[in-house]
Amino acid sequence: MKSHTNNLILILLGILFLITSYYIYKNEEKKLSKEIENYTQTQKTIIEDYLNISKTILFTYKNLLENMTNVDIQKHKSFSHIKQNTSDSYHIQNEVDNTYNSTLFGVGKIESLSKEHVNEINRVLYLESIFKTALDILPDIKWVYYSSNNRYIYLAPSILNVNKQFIENQFKKNFWTEAAPPNNKTKELVLTKLYEDGVSKELLTTLSLPIFNKSNKFLGIVSIDIGLQVFNKIFNKYKNISGDTYLINHNNYILASTNSFDKNTKLSFSNTKQKSKNIFNDKIKLVYLENERKKHSIIINRSMSKIFLFLFLLSIIYLSYHLACLLRKVERLANYDSLTKLLNRRALRDEASKYIELSKRNKNPISFILIDIDDFKSINDTYGHAIGDLVLTSLSDTLLSSVRKSDLVSRYGGEEFLVVLTNTNLEKSFIQAERLREKVLKLKLKNIKGNITISLGCSELKENESLDNAIQRADELLYEAKKNGKNQTKY
Ligand code: GH3
Ligand code: MG
Ligand code: MG
Repeated sequence: MKSHTNNLILILLGILFLITSYYIYKNEEKKLSKEIENYTQTQKTIIEDYLNISKTILFTYKNLLENMTNVDIQKHKSFSHIKQNTSDSYHIQNEVDNTYNSTLFGVGKIESLSKEHVNEINRVLYLESIFKTALDILPDIKWVYYSSNNRYIYLAPSILNVNKQFIENQFKKNFWTEAAPPNNKTKELVLTKLYEDGVSKELLTTLSLPIFNKSNKFLGIVSIDIGLQVFNKIFNKYKNISGDTYLINHNNYILASTNSFDKNTKLSFSNTKQKSKNIFNDKIKLVYLENERKKHSIIINRSMSKIFLFLFLLSIIYLSYHLACLLRKVERLANYDSLTKLLNRRALRDEASKYIELSKRNKNPISFILIDIDDFKSINDTYGHAIGDLVLTSLSDTLLSSVRKSDLVSRYGGEEFLVVLTNTNLEKSFIQAERLREKVLKLKLKNIKGNITISLGCSELKENESLDNAIQRADELLYEAKKNGKNQTKY
């Protein structure tokens, strides 16, 4: 195996490896981004569904409250449930059904409330079933409540023991300040930023809808509190693996995230790779921020097994190639003489047997010429072994160039050569032998004075004769040529 061919193959396999690894990586990247798209879409759908149900409840409440006029105050049960009535606050406990209780608490003395005020309280209590619906169908709902401009709040589920201060504090919270006039000029549904729940102190965001009467007088706000755990549950269930999802309101305040965050922080995402989805009539956004390092490490992890498998395949291809080269080399070493590159004695016998088979089948003659260099020992002795080697290679070149392609030339021993002539009878082999002898005689080798001579013995394979026998006869004739004065052919 020539080393530059080997290097070329290694380089080609290396390039193939790089290209394939690149495609495996790109493919995994595509798969991951599809995965991310799928689960941000799922997150969006679930959040949007939750908010849309809440929105429907709030609008139903608003429309009913705005349009309800003829409720008989005296017939309604509300005022029979007064739990607490101090000098500056009142508290009505109202059973929605067997499962839920609700509370109405307000600032002031109940006896001094205006008729219109009491009328509104009754209408509010009358709509308790909508609160029950909200509690029934919204999983993990925190509170559903109506806060009146008359400074009372009707809330479900119920709470106990509130005082005037507590009630007044509620009207400073985001569910009120962000949705009430004058902050909410468009009278729209508002999703507040995160703030602390007055009762549980947990973080929440509120969906608040302001309500006005027919003459456009502000009555109050109906709200649904959505605890952070609602979003956390969704985000934990559909957790992103290579980045984080943020739910932000219209002012970019973070409402929830798969990542940890401080309340009242705005999301800055201008420099990062992001995908954002507007949800809930563009009131909020679901922003996915890619963590490039995490993403690459996930893709590399996922690609690894495929890349290793491919590397393994390439190694097998390379090793097979290497093995084939080695086999060829071993074969060459086993069959060819390393100095002259001619077939060696063993390989000649194998090849000659095939030639004999063929000539027998075709009924063609086949002949052998056994050649021995005359006085080769003295060439070695006179000029040295290296020059002796040079004589051997020159002679083999001469022999090879003088016979047909279909003939065989082999180094049969130290300074002995055997030529197999196909489709050649004894007479013709003698002519060929003489031609060879004359060619060798004319060989001019620098460093060597005088001529190189060879002695030759020819034989033609007889019917039913073995290869050994035919060669043996050529050898005997060669011996005769030597005895007869060398530099001649006997047949
Ligand atoms: P003859 O004319 O009777 O054949 O005499 P010769 O000297 O040629 O024959 P002999 O058998 O006495 O010597 C053959 C020599 O060939 C002996 C050996 O050292 C030499 N020889 C055999 N193989 C090689 C070889 O690969 N390289 C070299 N330089 N010499 C070799
Ligand atoms: Mg000899
Ligand atoms: Mg000799």
